[in-house]
Amino acid sequence: MSEYFGGVGVDATVGTDGGRSSGAHDLVSLVVPFYNEADGIETFFREVTPVLERIPGIDYEIVCVNDGSADSTLERLLAVCADNPRVRVVDLSRNFGKEAALTAGIDEAQGAAVIPFDADLQDPPEAIARLVQRWREGFDVVLAKRAERNTDTYMKRGTAALFYRVHNAISETTIPENAGDFRLMSRQVVDALKQLPENRRFMKGLFSWVGFRTAQIEYERLPRTAGETKFSAWKLWNFALEGLTSFGTWPLRVWTYIGGGTALFAIAYAIYLALRTMIRGVDVPGYASIITAVLFLGGTQLIGIGVIGEYIGRIYMESKRRPVYIVRRVYRQGAS
Ligand code: UDP
Ligand code: MG
Repeated sequence: MSEYFGGVGVDATVGTDGGRSSGAHDLVSLVVPFYNEADGIETFFREVTPVLERIPGIDYEIVCVNDGSADSTLERLLAVCADNPRVRVVDLSRNFGKEAALTAGIDEAQGAAVIPFDADLQDPPEAIARLVQRWREGFDVVLAKRAERNTDTYMKRGTAALFYRVHNAISETTIPENAGDFRLMSRQVVDALKQLPENRRFMKGLFSWVGFRTAQIEYERLPRTAGETKFSAWKLWNFALEGLTSFGTWPLRVWTYIGGGTALFAIAYAIYLALRTMIRGVDVPGYASIITAVLFLGGTQLIGIGVIGEYIGRIYMESKRRPVYIVRRVYRQGAS
């Protein structure tokens, strides 16, 4: 990984304006995770390469990460790589998930700017030129926000909106609404990102956590060119939990308050019952209120334990210090 490609990336970051002097050709890295995307690969390169060629004053590389695809994704990527010296392929040893695949690609990228990009062309390649332009204006991060989410289902839009709202209300790091992983990051931001040691990586959160001067552009999210989404509702739910637990401990701490509130209520109710018994005597029936209280409290306690479990599970996984991904092999033209 220390050897770099083209020799442009590192030198290009030294300059009076942070490396964006228009004379030099900055290397821009597109990092693309591929998981069972064989059908879309031809279209992908046909659409993306000309766009990158047309951006003035940059050199580019495309770092493709094959995230353990079970179809012919790897073969097709290698065919492109054999033709185009700007394309590199990082082949992971199995499917590690998009976050890990992105991490692998970002680690491999040499560019003065790095852009995570989806293989299904849901993010329009034309927007890349606009990202580069804002970066040249001096921003370290250029966020691409989805102006509309028309291509998402009603359900996905609703749950996504709810997720952002809850996440930003309870987390120490807020993440911009409707911004995916598609964005440009300068070398400095990428280096900062690489210092974050966690191996359960909620990339959107990590991207935000590192900060830096940020600009935004808006774009229209398109339908997939081929194949179908790799994220089921269940996967998205777990992804949301990952995000919520990665950036704050509010879900853990809230139980102190719920418990405190319940205890106060119980004391007040006990006093009320005692007084009522003194004034009105004992009345035996009470089955309904007892069972309601027992069930409610039992349920609340189990939720609390479940939340603690979520965190302990994450501490456990994190404490193993396993690498985020395993590379089977990196393919570059010339090196085999
Ligand atoms: N992806 C991946 N590993 C996975 C799942 C997805 O590398 O385990 C890649 C996928 O190939 C695509 C990107 O992540 O390039 C986004 O996936 P997808 O389009 O399925 O997500 P959606 O756009 O539906 O949120
Ligand atoms: Mg997609």
